[in-house]
Amino acid sequence: MRSIHNKLVIIGSGPAGLTASIYAARGGIEPLVISGHEPGGQLMYTTEVENFPGFDEPILGPILMEKMRKQAQRFGTRFVDKAISSVDFSSKPFRVRCSNSDNNIEEYFADSVIIATGASAVWLGLESEQRLRGRGVSSCATCDGFFFKGKDVVVVGGGDTAMEEALFLIKFTNSVMVIHRRDKLNASAIMQQKAFRNEKISFLWNTVVEDIIGDNKVKSVRVKNIITEQTSDVRTDGVFVAIGHKPNTDLFKGQIELDERGYIKKYEESKTNIEGVFVAGDVYDYRYRQAVTAAGSGCKAALNVINYLESKN
Ligand code: NAP
Repeated sequence: MRSIHNKLVIIGSGPAGLTASIYAARGGIEPLVISGHEPGGQLMYTTEVENFPGFDEPILGPILMEKMRKQAQRFGTRFVDKAISSVDFSSKPFRVRCSNSDNNIEEYFADSVIIATGASAVWLGLESEQRLRGRGVSSCATCDGFFFKGKDVVVVGGGDTAMEEALFLIKFTNSVMVIHRRDKLNASAIMQQKAFRNEKISFLWNTVVEDIIGDNKVKSVRVKNIITEQTSDVRTDGVFVAIGHKPNTDLFKGQIELDERGYIKKYEESKTNIEGVFVAGDVYDYRYRQAVTAAGSGCKAALNVINYLESKN
């Protein structure tokens, strides 16, 4: 087993982790980023990004992440492109372990850690859904809604996220149809009222999406009424799947305090309940989920780590 000591290990390489690494590296900490299963995070699955400040033309998600990574490397960030197999935050220095394909374990010691593992959208699990992601299928209205100006779209789900997506989308689109598998929503009363009040938002109850039709772009969804068992096709230009998000915290269960939804519980100044372990991005923030908010919290976490390490010297 190979062991390497670090002042800071950053777990995750989306906008939160990479921004933290840029600030930490420029602060002289030489962070080690462990990129994880999905280097680059959620933006690697996005096509055009139009709302990240600094780009007057749309930029592809993977290109944006490549630029952030190069920027981090320029200041001395080191990268390990592996997934972590276990962490041990019970004593200092903290320990983070990765194993490679030959089952050789590499262990990284750290005086401080920033957890920036993000959250993943929950998908319906259809082959067509993955094939048409970025071609009419999305899980983020704030990111992609603008591309559907004057079009007809469907939103799948009945919670607050689904209502929020529907209410956001209706600002640009011609119509939004909410497809929900029950006969009532589970969104908060106020969100329900707002959605019901909007004449351009319609509802298809007791209905599940069985397939998304289209070769290179979405043309329709095949739906089934779960009471009558009848199937039909609904023409649409876009499908927004809003059935929840799952924080990537499995690795930390039993090691760190999570909230009732499984997100990492964040205290003031990016702190977790363990001194020396900090958090950034969507792995604690289920509210905003934007690249720019994740990046902002990565910056804060790195500055807080710098203060923390200085206070220990
Ligand atoms: P959620 O409350 O868990 O709702 C998920 C919705 O998706 C439910 O209607 C669920 O239906 C449906 N669903 C789940 N799996 C499905 C599947 N495989 N096929 C079809 N439908 C499926 O998730 P959320 O809306 O993302 O909200 C998460 C949390 O964030 C909530 O506590 C919410 O209040 C909060 N939030 C708040 C705001 C706000 O305050 N503005 C905005 C967004 C989110 P079933 O009921 O049948 O399971």
